[in-house]
Amino acid sequence: NEDNLKQIISHSKEYGFVFQSSDIYDGLSAVYDYGQLGSELKNNIKSYWWKAMVQMHENIVGIDAAIFMHPETWKASGHVDAFNDPLIDNKDSKKRYRADVLIEEHVEKIRLKIQKDVDKGINKFGDAFDKEQFLATNPNVLRNQAKIDDINDKFKNAMNNDDLAAVKSLIEELGIACPISGSKEWTDVKQFNLMFSTEIGSVADSANKIYLRPETAQGIFVNYLNVQKTGRMKIPFGIAQIGKAFRNEIVARQFIFRMREFEQMEMQFFVRPGEEMKWYEYWKEQRIKWHKSLGMTDDYYRFHDHIKLAHYANAACDIEFNFPMGFKELEGIHSRTDFDLKQHEKHSGKKLQYFDPELNESYVPYVVETSIGLDRMFLATLSYAYCEEKLEDGSERVVLKLPAVLAPVKLAVMPLTKKDGLPEKAREILDSLKFDYYCQYDEKDSMGKRYRRQDAIGTPYCVTVDHQTLEDNTVTIRDRDTMKQERIAISELEKLLKAKFDL
Ligand code: ATP
Repeated sequence: NEDNLKQIISHSKEYGFVFQSSDIYDGLSAVYDYGQLGSELKNNIKSYWWKAMVQMHENIVGIDAAIFMHPETWKASGHVDAFNDPLIDNKDSKKRYRADVLIEEHVEKIRLKIQKDVDKGINKFGDAFDKEQFLATNPNVLRNQAKIDDINDKFKNAMNNDDLAAVKSLIEELGIACPISGSKEWTDVKQFNLMFSTEIGSVADSANKIYLRPETAQGIFVNYLNVQKTGRMKIPFGIAQIGKAFRNEIVARQFIFRMREFEQMEMQFFVRPGEEMKWYEYWKEQRIKWHKSLGMTDDYYRFHDHIKLAHYANAACDIEFNFPMGFKELEGIHSRTDFDLKQHEKHSGKKLQYFDPELNESYVPYVVETSIGLDRMFLATLSYAYCEEKLEDGSERVVLKLPAVLAPVKLAVMPLTKKDGLPEKAREILDSLKFDYYCQYDEKDSMGKRYRRQDAIGTPYCVTVDHQTLEDNTVTIRDRDTMKQERIAISELEKLLKAKFDL
């Protein structure tokens, strides 16, 4: 819930994960900085994704394209004309909303009603409950499903026909009220382009206007032949990229979920025309597997098929995550057809065909894309990991149960006391491990306090050096989640860490 989000925001700040941008000037709306631990967590997410994409697939390579691109790019991609959000203002509260989001939230409420009916059925019939049959026959469910279909149809039609008056009528017909004032008095719907622009060079005339990229994908499209030729890639093949993207989001709230400057991890997979649906299904499966490999439980994820397809797609879905605000988009998987490459051919005048040696023919490939927001993945991981626990002795602890591979600090090394050569011994251990694992040294305060500090930042292991260590070269190692301690030989430490952290 929203309170949970507030706790996560304050915990993030307190421990150096995320700060408001320009904090001393009271921040800049929807822009955030990652602190000392946040940047570690972010790097670990990036590397987990990059390894899964690039290192584990012989036919996927990575690039790093510039944020600035030739302005014609954004005409070709459709972003100059079609990258708009439909906005609506409430006359009473003067608050601005995205019309599509208001409608989606309304649909979500109806979906919850269906879920409630399903839950009732499960309670009543237990194992004998046949969900499929229930969904197909229960009159309440059928009525609610018909409502959802009707809303989706109307909205899709209105958007596809650029009929903004129809979007407004739909909001009024559904009786959607302003979440703040409760008023149903709405203005007309307006379109608002989300791209940031600036000028390149010294003269500020409009001919020099360029955009900050709103997605990383176009840097891949314009380079696809460079990479294909120099890397001798054969279709099907993919190009991966991690980088910043910028959108002038109007409704910017919910912490790092919706930012104006954010990072995407995208992979464009180039396939034979006609084979895109096969690969679309393949990547849906691969991506959900990637998420689940992190060990966050299945019930935190669901697929959501798009009703309103973007101008470039012939099939699209989201992987949604159960954020503190409810299920929301974390990643998009899109079948983008040959739209982008064909558009770039048209606008650049260059041929962007691939010669397929097996078919002995040339064609413009189709593209299946997986696109995940790094910051959203960060929020997903953090909100999943955040736990407040009551312990057996009645005390409480806050612990981040982060997947071990993503934890910012892998290991804390602590001397029991600051004397008798224990600090030196602890440093010796730390020095032998720090090249491979990010370790922290901590000798301040009681052991209990030190453990709490490491729990709060999600450190999977704490190693304590005591007097016995000096005699027999053993240490105690404490597990973050079970809080159990075990005595092991220092020489065993590396093997244990390798088993825990190496993929
Ligand atoms: P939304 O509907 O939430 O605005 P979108 O459908 O416009 O997202 P895409 O264009 O598909 O998003 O971008 C791919 C991914 O980039 C999204 O799944 C999301 O994780 C991330 N993303 C998009 N916009 C933002 C943003 N403003 N802040 C943070 N991440 C974002």
